[in-house]
Amino acid sequence: MSKDEIYDVIVVGAGVAGLYASYQLASMGWKVALVESKPASKIGDRVCGDAIGIHHFEELSLQVPSYVIDHRYKGVKIYSPSCKYNIVVPGEGVSINRLKFGQWLLSQALSKNVELFDQHVVLDVMLKDNNVTGIKVKRVNGETHIIKAKAFIDASGYKPAIRSKLPREWPISEKPYTTDYNIAYREVLKLDEPLEEVEYAEIYINVDIAPGGYWWLFPKSSSGEIINVGLGVINTGQYNPRVQYDKYLRNKFKGKVLNSGGGIVPTRRPLPTLVWRNVAVVGDAAYTVNPVHGGGIGSSLLSSHIVSKYMNSALEAGQVNEQTMWQANFDYMNAYGGKQASLDVLRMYMQKLSNDDYEWVMENKVVDGGSIYDLGVKGDLAEKITLAISLLIKLLGRPSLLNELRTVRNYMNKMRELYTTRYPSKPEELPAWMKTIDQLLLEYTYKIGFNRGNLVKW
Ligand SMILES: Cc1cc2nc3c(=O)[nH]c(=O)nc-3n(C[C@H](O)[C@H](O)[C@H](O)COP(=O)(O)OP(=O)(O)OC[C@H]3O[C@@H](n4cnc5c(N)ncnc54)[C@H](O)[C@@H]3O)c2cc1C
Repeated sequence: MSKDEIYDVIVVGAGVAGLYASYQLASMGWKVALVESKPASKIGDRVCGDAIGIHHFEELSLQVPSYVIDHRYKGVKIYSPSCKYNIVVPGEGVSINRLKFGQWLLSQALSKNVELFDQHVVLDVMLKDNNVTGIKVKRVNGETHIIKAKAFIDASGYKPAIRSKLPREWPISEKPYTTDYNIAYREVLKLDEPLEEVEYAEIYINVDIAPGGYWWLFPKSSSGEIINVGLGVINTGQYNPRVQYDKYLRNKFKGKVLNSGGGIVPTRRPLPTLVWRNVAVVGDAAYTVNPVHGGGIGSSLLSSHIVSKYMNSALEAGQVNEQTMWQANFDYMNAYGGKQASLDVLRMYMQKLSNDDYEWVMENKVVDGGSIYDLGVKGDLAEKITLAISLLIKLLGRPSLLNELRTVRNYMNKMRELYTTRYPSKPEELPAWMKTIDQLLLEYTYKIGFNRGNLVKW
């Protein structure tokens, strides 16, 4: 296709979200351009913990080839700060090879005639009559030109290339706060001495090592030789995850570093809307990551699946805008966004807990693996947990903790309702709904004494 021709859809970013969205829309018969700053051979290469629950693939009927899978887990083991206690959370998962996974998704997209503009960086967005008409791209070490389309998908990750350049009045351009992000560092190592236990992905809670996050040890081979180890910290500007890694983890794991790097994870509720005018946003660009454990591969795929479906019908109807794609918000919020919103409330509270608090919770078996699994799946502080906590706290005498937990549960429920049953039925109602969310967050963060930091500049 010539550069002057108009595509049906331009997708920006060839991470999991953009690859899957472009594959889906091209499969539905649309002319899709995929714009990515990396060279094609590096698509998929990404700093990640590489772990994903297989239910994410199953729910989308995604037949991932076995060569993409490095290792399989029975579940996740969560350790207390002293490591004396642990909780096993059931649920089968895998460690994937991100490069191979990305290359496989790319081959799927190319087989449906997606046109790849690799080594192209998006510089700007062209607007006309309250719609996006094109994007200005620059080929790495090359010329600048404009690519046009009827509809656009921003899948460019935590620093969104399209939506950050849209008018402030468009709710899709909403800016995050600094603490809406965790910053992480991880290494993939070939160990001198292989691990003995490789059946579980391991998470270690310790606020000295990983303040506002956790550190992880994810085996990547059944021999126990290859591991993915890293940590994430809250983005307050106070902590550097690489420094924390060098201080606390480097000496624990001796071996050859196969890959290392840092990354940013948006750990918050989703964007208020995934669609506005002729633009949709998916994956990290739309904050689809689970706020508590930071997993975002599965929900990126899910958001792309949902958005593609409604962009397809909007294109068929010849009218791509928030009215014709609004149902995408309902589907996403009900499938995942509502849970994220309630877990965002819990995340802020958890970021304020001390090692002693975590130790106490785990020592007294306040939560078990099944409840954490439920919490992860449904996003509510299940009655079972609150009941157990109430009983224990009465017995062991921590009434202030009980009050705090009641507050957290209350706000988690309110937030989930706002993102599901009380989500605006039409775009016109969105501004008022957004004000309610802001108000609720203001109230909640004040109550628990959480400082959200500043609005991110971009
Ligand atoms: C350290 C770390 C550990 C993680 N561990 C896990 C884990 O174990 N399990 C899990 O499920 N999730 C994990 N995540 C989260 C997960 O990696 C992301 O949620 C997921 O990869 C997001 O995919 P995406 O396609 O939305 O964005 P990305 O993968 O960020 O893709 C965005 C793409 O857009 C391109 N791009 C950006 N700007 C431009 C531009 N201006 N022009 C052209 N192209 C552009 C980028 O090059 C990139 O290829 C982790 C994240 C980090 C940082």
